[in-house]
Amino acid sequence: MKFETLAIHKGNLITDKNKPVVQPITLSTTFEHGNEGGVLYTRANNPNRMALEELVSCLEKGVDAAAFSSGNAAGTAVYQALKPGSHIIAPDDMYHGLHNSMTILFAGIHEVSFVDMSDLEAVKKAIRSNTQLFWVETPSNPLLKITDIRAISELAKAQGAVLVCDNTFATPVFQNPLLLGADIVMHSSTKYFGGHSDILGGALVTKDSNEFWEKIRTVQKVGGAVPSPADCYWLTRSIRTLAYRMKGHAEHARILAEFLINHPKVERVFYPGLKNHKGHDIAAAQMSGFGGIVSFTVKGGAEEANQVVSKLELFANATSLGGVESLIERRAAVEGPDTKTPQNLLRVSVGLEHTDDLLEDLNQALG
Ligand SMILES: *Cc1c(COP(=O)(O)O)cnc(C)c1O
Repeated sequence: MKFETLAIHKGNLITDKNKPVVQPITLSTTFEHGNEGGVLYTRANNPNRMALEELVSCLEKGVDAAAFSSGNAAGTAVYQALKPGSHIIAPDDMYHGLHNSMTILFAGIHEVSFVDMSDLEAVKKAIRSNTQLFWVETPSNPLLKITDIRAISELAKAQGAVLVCDNTFATPVFQNPLLLGADIVMHSSTKYFGGHSDILGGALVTKDSNEFWEKIRTVQKVGGAVPSPADCYWLTRSIRTLAYRMKGHAEHARILAEFLINHPKVERVFYPGLKNHKGHDIAAAQMSGFGGIVSFTVKGGAEEANQVVSKLELFANATSLGGVESLIERRAAVEGPDTKTPQNLLRVSVGLEHTDDLLEDLNQALG
C-alpha cells in the first residue's frame, strides 16, 4: 500500500466489541495480569503507544519504533544506549537541543566531534578507533544543509558504527533514511508529525531488532521518558493527514523561496529545492520533496532582520516548526552568543495559509 493509505489505516488497534472506527484513548495505567494484549503498565506499554509505534515504524519502513515524550528524549536515549567512552561524530550545525544533550549530559561519558557532515573528507578525518555513532540531520537547521546519507552509511558500516538520521525536517513523506543505509531514524514528533503546534513528542525507528535497539527499548521503559496515552492518540490522529500537509508545506515553501529570491531587500535564500542550493543534487536524489522550511538573509544586519519580523502580521515570531500556521524567527537570537548562524538570517516554517496572503504580508514587511 502507498503512504497515504498506510498513514490512515495502520496503528488503529481496535479491541472493543462495539467496533469503533477510531481507537479510543486507553487512560488506565495498569492492566489485569494475563490479558490477551500483553499490556502490563503504561510506562512499559500502552495500547495508544503501541498504535503510534506501529504507525511510525511502518511509515519509516522500519521493523520497530519507540515513542518518547520529546524529540530530545528520543535523541538522548540513543546516547544513553551507547557504551561509555564511545566517540560520536555529529553535525557542526546540529539541532542545538541535542547538541546540548551531548555536550552537557554526556560530558565525561562520551567523546564528540562536531564536523560538517556534507564534507565527506572532514567526516573521514574525524573517525577514531572508538567511533560508535554517526549522527546525521538532513536537511539541517537553519541553513538547510544536505548530507549524503548513503555515503555516510558506507563510512559507518566500514567502522562498525551505528548511523542515526534526524529526519524531522524531511519526514517519511519525503525521505526514508533506513532505505538509504541509516540504522535508526529519529523524529521530533512535536514538529510535522503533530503538525498543529500542540503536542510534544519524539520517536526512534529501527531497521533491525538488534542488541543496540534492545538497549534503547530499555532506556525508554526504565528511563520512563514516555508520551502519555492522550499524546499518542493525538499524534496518531495527526499523522493520518501528514502526506497532504507535507505536500502543502513544500509547495508553499517553494512559492515563498521563489518570491524571496527576486526581492531586492533579500540577500540570500536557503531552500534545497532551489537549483543554486549547494546540496540540491543530493537532495533531489535522496528526497522526493524539499520540505517546508525556508531561511533567508535580509540586506543589513540583525536590526533590519528584526524590523521585518516586527512588521509581519500573519507570521508569528516564535520558535519551532511544522505547524499549520507560519512561524518566523531570527535564529541567531535564539541560538545565543556562540552561534555561527548569520545575524541577519530569518528562518520560516511555511504554513498552510493561502500563499497569496503569505506573500502579501512578506511584501509589506520587507517594504
Ligand atoms: C525540535 C527538534 C528536535 C528536538 O525535539 P523536541 O521535541 O523539541 O524535544 C530535534 N531535532 C530537530 C531537527 C528539531 O527540529
